[in-house]
Amino acid sequence: MSPQIDEINITKSLSAEQAAPRDIADTLAEHKALKISRKNPDSWVIGCDQILVFEGEIFGKPASRDALKHSLSRLAGQTHRLITANVIYKDCKPQWRHIAISHMSMRPMSAADIDTYVAAYWQEVKHAAGGYHFERTPDIFSAVRGHWFDIMGLSIGPIIGFLNQIDTNNPYQNPKLAAVLGHPIAQSKSPRMHGHWLQKNGISGDYIAIDIPPAHFNDTLNMLFDVGFSGFNVTIPHKEQALAFADHMSSRAQRIGAANTLVKTDSGDIRAYNTDGYGFITNLSTQSETWQPKAGPALVLGAGGAARAILVALLEAGLPKIYLSNRTRARADDLIAEISDLIEVIDWQDKEDVLPEVFTVVNSTSLGMTGKAALEFDLTNINPHALVTDLIYAPLETQLLKDARARGCEVVGGIGMLLHQAVPGFEAWFGTRPEVDQELEALMLT
Ligand code: NAP
Repeated sequence: MSPQIDEINITKSLSAEQAAPRDIADTLAEHKALKISRKNPDSWVIGCDQILVFEGEIFGKPASRDALKHSLSRLAGQTHRLITANVIYKDCKPQWRHIAISHMSMRPMSAADIDTYVAAYWQEVKHAAGGYHFERTPDIFSAVRGHWFDIMGLSIGPIIGFLNQIDTNNPYQNPKLAAVLGHPIAQSKSPRMHGHWLQKNGISGDYIAIDIPPAHFNDTLNMLFDVGFSGFNVTIPHKEQALAFADHMSSRAQRIGAANTLVKTDSGDIRAYNTDGYGFITNLSTQSETWQPKAGPALVLGAGGAARAILVALLEAGLPKIYLSNRTRARADDLIAEISDLIEVIDWQDKEDVLPEVFTVVNSTSLGMTGKAALEFDLTNINPHALVTDLIYAPLETQLLKDARARGCEVVGGIGMLLHQAVPGFEAWFGTRPEVDQELEALMLT
């Protein structure tokens, strides 16, 4: 909620009284929390404010493009302080407060650099203290000392620490917490899926999406585990970093070279798993009545992150041989060296040649996805006993699956993989094995 307080005049009058910048930030956060608390006395209200200070001067939101150019010319090549104040109110009374100070070193910027920056970002930074959104323009900083969430304006670690201590029946009293971490992450459907399972199983807990840039991954993860998170799903671009972060990794995650699930054990160790392959195989075996992994070779299209998990899972399921084809052949060649010599790479333009002899066809490229280019793939010679599956689930039935169905092949879409890969994480964090059913699938497709 936006509390609409008179920030400019409050700041002016406090500055006139020689108030320290941290006290100004704290007072502004308090005014905001109080205003909302008056309308919602039974709720826990968090008020937030940020103030940027350089050489004793407070830099507010730039009033114009020229003001932004002026403040950037002062801050560039220098280190300023970003003060983040969080205040919690309940029933119009302050319950807790916290101040965090981050030190932000901006790279030198020429007048031309500043003009380019202002032309590109003015619309989005005009409401931000100092005229930048760190998450959108991290490259203008050469060094930063501070936690990611403090810089974002909400000191999540200390806030959860406070909420865990208070004696109340609020739903955040020692909840079980998990999250999906990525960059970007707004598009993730995982919170909806886990939220559904939490509600269905009557579990007091939460599963949220958190956007973390790679440079802040380790620090933020340490802090989130410290404040009580049970674990995480991890997506692009953090899957390799997550594997390196863990104390132990499953043999499958090690073989794939990436983790998508982190779990904190009772002894405090962090374990890394990769459940994409589990999701993929479970999807095939639950959707198909006839699929036999050992029936014959497979053809896998694509050699990206998802393909690694698919190749390992297919080999573990007992496939005798896998043909792998990727636009960039070198990426596919690398996978043989890393995973198994039961994989044979074929050139992208020759991928149709093996269709008569394969029993499983997998599209793990992004071709055919809504908004992406089409997959040009002639199925004229496909073995009619082959099962064809696509990792893409938007659209639900891709052109590849339509073409394969028209040739009499059994087809399996990608949505089930997304649902099944989430099951082991949920069970580890929340202690209940969730169900993948039609209701969940329908929810994910709305
Ligand atoms: P990725 O690492 O970015 O790999 C993308 C793959 O697509 C690469 O093999 C790339 O080939 C290929 N590709 C992209 N554009 C192409 C083009 N114009 N022509 C030919 N090949 C092209 O992505 P990923 O993580 O492996 O994911 C791949 C797909 O699987 C995505 O659509 C993703 O949404 C889906 N997925 C689904 C699930 C699920 O749960 N259902 C899970 C994971 C992924 P190059 O190497 O030549 O670039």
